[in-house]
Amino acid sequence: MRTGFVTLIGRPNVGKSTLMNALIGQKIAITSHKAQTTRDRIETVYTDERGQIIFLDTPGIHQARTKLGDYMVGAARETLSEVDLILWLVEPEDQAGEKEEQIVSYLETVKTPVILVINKMDTAGSGALAECEERFRKVYPIKEALAVSALKGDNLEVLRQKIFDAMPEGPLYYDEDTLTDQTLRELSAELIREKALNHLSEEVPHGIAVEIEKFDESGRVVQISASLICEKESHKGIVIGKGGSMLKKIGSEARGEIETLLERKVNLSLFVKVRRGWRNNASQLRSFGYRKK
Ligand code: GDP
Ligand code: MG
Repeated sequence: MRTGFVTLIGRPNVGKSTLMNALIGQKIAITSHKAQTTRDRIETVYTDERGQIIFLDTPGIHQARTKLGDYMVGAARETLSEVDLILWLVEPEDQAGEKEEQIVSYLETVKTPVILVINKMDTAGSGALAECEERFRKVYPIKEALAVSALKGDNLEVLRQKIFDAMPEGPLYYDEDTLTDQTLRELSAELIREKALNHLSEEVPHGIAVEIEKFDESGRVVQISASLICEKESHKGIVIGKGGSMLKKIGSEARGEIETLLERKVNLSLFVKVRRGWRNNASQLRSFGYRKK
């Protein structure tokens, strides 16, 4: 059996969460077209007859401007030296320039092997993919390079095999049915946050946290109460929307996905609260679950 740990790194929006979900075949990490969707470190598990791969999805590396930002960059950096393999995600048009400099400087501090994964191959021709590989080989000694499409599912099995080839021999760390270290309650909160990210614009979504107040699975219908926390009084009305329309939209989409996740009927009540400047408040960060593991 080959078993080990793999981390996905790359700038925000390259498709790390989409790729991790596609590789394990189930939606665990939330995704959006907005930068900095993933805030915490999430472990997901892929098991087959070859062994077990444990993926760590981390927030993208970026310049931290708030305490939440510091926490996110720290979570991404820490994992690099702890894993057996790093998947470095880039997009076909990426230039291997300034934006990736910080990632290269982190990679230079560890000995972990690196596979360059050129994601979104559905958006580029083969010439562009070869040129992309060449540009990145100049800035860092990668072990291998492979183009994939996380969205269309192209080359994923080739990538899984390359990952297994790089894993050490060892026992299974998780039960073969385990998909993630996240609880259903945590996954539900993330699904609500995803819907809020997808429907809100400008600075509002970056200041959103979700707090689950009730998660009761004892009845026929699962009862969930949750609050969307926003940073400013002026954001509250935007999150609620005209006559409650925005909150209703976020709630009904989230409920649908939580029902799929739990395979049960769900009754979801959503509220909106203001915690001024919570992203810069260490104790509020902890209370929303952004704590070091
Ligand atoms: P992360 O910030 O690196 O975790 O990126 P996400 O997984 O949240 O993805 C960012 C955006 O890129 C989303 O809108 C995805 O649908 C999109 N995306 C991810 N993979 C692909 C791909 O293979 N092809 C295309 N065309 N889009 C993709
Ligand atoms: Mg992500």
